[in-house]
Amino acid sequence: MNQPTLERQQARLSALYEVSSQLGKSLDLDEVLNQVMDAIIQLTGAERGFLMLYDETTGQLVTRAARNVDQKTIEGDAMNISRTVVERAVASGEGILTSNAQEDARFAGQQSVVGYQLRSIMCAPLQARGFTLGAVYVDNRLFSGVFETADLDLLMTFANQASVAIENARLFTQTDAALSRRVEELSIFQRIDQQLNKSLELNRVLSLALNWAIALINADGGSIGLFEQPEEAPPYLHLMVFRGAEEVDETRDVSVDHPIVRQVLVENRAILSHNVNEAESIDGTPATVQLAVPIQQAGHVTGLITLETQHAREINPEDIAFVERLADRAAVAINNAQLYEQINAANTAKSEFVSLVAHELRVPMTSIKGYADLIVSGVAGPLNDQQKQFLDVIRRNLQRMTTLISDLSDINRIESGKMTFNYKAFDIRETVADVTGSLHERIDARQQILDIDIEDDVPDVCADPVRIAQVLTNLVSNANKYTPDGGQIFVRVVREPGFATVSVQDTGIGISEENQKKLFTQFFRAEDHAVREQPGWGLGLSIVRKMVEAQGGQIRFESELDKGSMFTFTVPLAKET
Ligand code: ADP
Repeated sequence: MNQPTLERQQARLSALYEVSSQLGKSLDLDEVLNQVMDAIIQLTGAERGFLMLYDETTGQLVTRAARNVDQKTIEGDAMNISRTVVERAVASGEGILTSNAQEDARFAGQQSVVGYQLRSIMCAPLQARGFTLGAVYVDNRLFSGVFETADLDLLMTFANQASVAIENARLFTQTDAALSRRVEELSIFQRIDQQLNKSLELNRVLSLALNWAIALINADGGSIGLFEQPEEAPPYLHLMVFRGAEEVDETRDVSVDHPIVRQVLVENRAILSHNVNEAESIDGTPATVQLAVPIQQAGHVTGLITLETQHAREINPEDIAFVERLADRAAVAINNAQLYEQINAANTAKSEFVSLVAHELRVPMTSIKGYADLIVSGVAGPLNDQQKQFLDVIRRNLQRMTTLISDLSDINRIESGKMTFNYKAFDIRETVADVTGSLHERIDARQQILDIDIEDDVPDVCADPVRIAQVLTNLVSNANKYTPDGGQIFVRVVREPGFATVSVQDTGIGISEENQKKLFTQFFRAEDHAVREQPGWGLGLSIVRKMVEAQGGQIRFESELDKGSMFTFTVPLAKET
């Protein structure tokens, strides 16, 4: 190698080193391609050049970067030869060099070589991980002999390094795009879940699911149906919600023998059909493309989402996967709504049953009580002590049953929203006086001391006086039941902004911390012997809480085992003063 050649070679190598060190710094594909293109022009001293990559979807070579030549020129007749060179390089996987294209047997005859006086051309395929990604091309017009074999070697070496950088950036962009698609999809599904789970009404859930399905794949319309299995008839698909078609038969049911319905049921997967007429369509709407996606619950197909497009747009596998994922989510929401419907139906049935039983029991009990009272009064003849004692037991137990029936009826009315409140302004002092007066006997019977303290300036409250009396009776009666003989009961009323606060405190058995959590639960009673020896059903406090809250107040309590308890509730004042 003579001196000047050696120097050139050294210069080339240091240029290669310099441009190569820039590669890999960026993962942005366009940025990398531009860096590569600049480096190639700098390395080869070419007049113009371009870089082509295979397009992933079309499989065609596409210009992705160019220098001193525009896209139009690259696509035009003038560049026929250049494209031929690129095609040859990518097909053979080898570099191409011609120092005088006009005389090169491979190209000389071609119109563009002659027309555009092309002389020096170099082209190197871009290859990474065993695949050809595309090629880089450079040329010089007018001058021949600009490029030598050493230049092609240099270009090939650089092309190899560039290919790795390009492939990395391409993979990264792909992953990045896939990731952002996934993030977008997750956020869509998060919104779908939020909406679907907000409603427990079946029709609304189906309607929302259908709207989303149509929006997700840009369909023109669709429907959602659920399979019904009548007791003595064949199953069928009952269409519940529709969109799109102008004239929709809202009562349309589809036999499971409908060919597409059958296919979905048998194959348990989404079925795509083309050019469906009215008979072939599931919801009776002719369509260019129809997609039927099963809704599955616990491995069974329980419903069908049908979507149609009237235009020629194809529904691709990604669209189908999207609707399938939506169907899975809809299935959960549908299940919840169905369970809720069932619970509501069971609740209504329970309410009806309780009010029937309560009514049927009240009539004979009134009669039993009436006759027992008559016997006690002596109209049926004198009673001996034992008879009086037995009659007392009958009357006490009757009282227990009456309380139970009236508590159950109250709960029933509150739960079914049928309890009425006759609101009016009244003086809470009177309620306290009435309630404590009616319980005085029981309080005295246990030698308990009752202390009543009502602040002077408590104005009228606004509530149903009968219900407030019921609440207070319950609380004072509990204080009486769960406080040993000789204990104390305090009833206090204080005024607070907007409310009168009523508290009933006792020095009784108190409530353990564990039991405090269960308080207000229906039928809860402490295991304590002191509790069990008192009559009760464990319904009082749950009714009290519901009644207080229904009238715009709140209830709270404090209690310590063996020390006593204090229950406090609020009643809104009649006027905000
Ligand atoms: P009942 O009194 O019919 O059992 P409640 O709903 O009024 O039903 O009360 C539920 C349970 O809460 C009682 O059985 C008792 O264990 C506890 N409890 C209620 N009030 C008191 C109180 N003042 N002191 C101690 N325990 C109480």
